[in-house]
Amino acid sequence: MQSQNVAKPWSIAIHGGAGGDPKAWGPEKCDARMRALGVALTAGRDVLAAGGTALDAIEAAVTVLEDDGNFHAGRGATLTSTGNVELDASIMDGASANCGAVAAMNACGNPIRVARRVMQQTSHVLLVGPGADAFAQSQGFPLAPPDYFLGTRTSTRDATSDGDPNFRFGTVGCVARDTYGDLASGTSTSGTNEKLPGRVGDSPIIGAGTFAANSYGAVSTTGLGEEFMRRCVAYDLIAQVRYAGRTLDEATSETIRRQLPVGTGGIIAIDAVGTITLAHNTPGMSWGAADHQGRFETGLRVNALTL
Ligand code: ASP
Repeated sequence: MQSQNVAKPWSIAIHGGAGGDPKAWGPEKCDARMRALGVALTAGRDVLAAGGTALDAIEAAVTVLEDDGNFHAGRGATLTSTGNVELDASIMDGASANCGAVAAMNACGNPIRVARRVMQQTSHVLLVGPGADAFAQSQGFPLAPPDYFLGTRTSTRDATSDGDPNFRFGTVGCVARDTYGDLASGTSTSGTNEKLPGRVGDSPIIGAGTFAANSYGAVSTTGLGEEFMRRCVAYDLIAQVRYAGRTLDEATSETIRRQLPVGTGGIIAIDAVGTITLAHNTPGMSWGAADHQGRFETGLRVNALTL
């Protein structure tokens, strides 16, 4: 019989994008990112440690990163080639296969929360543009004032790149397994720098940037969205586990090392029993990982798996 005092397993991982080279960043930028990752990971961890759901942990962690301004999501959004903000996000519940997503919206600074409402309050999966903005307002989300997004306040196109021309990817994401064994995944972004108006990447596409299924795992991606979309990467990783008998760790590592062109991006994943995988084929990926055994780590690159 199990002891009543044994901590029930949970685990969580976050990412803050795989763009740029952390070695080229100044201490201020590194500190700001590390601080934000710590706050976001704490928010998610606290939900899970208190017996909350994986979905609540995703929303809590991603909302922190959207509000922070140091990432290409929510407040720190990069701009389109015509100087506008177009936000994308998605969330998936691994227990039910329910999912929700928004794309090309800008009425609200927390698209991950709107995506969750799409999942829970509508019969749809994806709302885009003015429809997504109108839905956010109908759900009572406060309208983001025009200068809320940092990029629109500065003369630079990218408020968070500090002139690093390689800093094209700064999406945020989270995967979690709660104490009930349920998995969830969420991803939020403003897309790639200077994207064409109307361009939508992998982040709000279920199966490309986000996927979760309790029996196999949960995945969130970051990087050049078109490469992830062409290969349906998030679902392909789950399919490798489901049909080819691979571990999620093997599937993720192989995909990052051999399937995706070097420099494409990164992936965070959690398998059915809570094992965390972090992988990227870029110089860096901001990340965090925590679990019920006391792990609590953040970083700007994952040494073991970086090519
Ligand atoms: N994957 C995102 C996109 O292509 C960009 C990123 O990860 O920063 O929209």
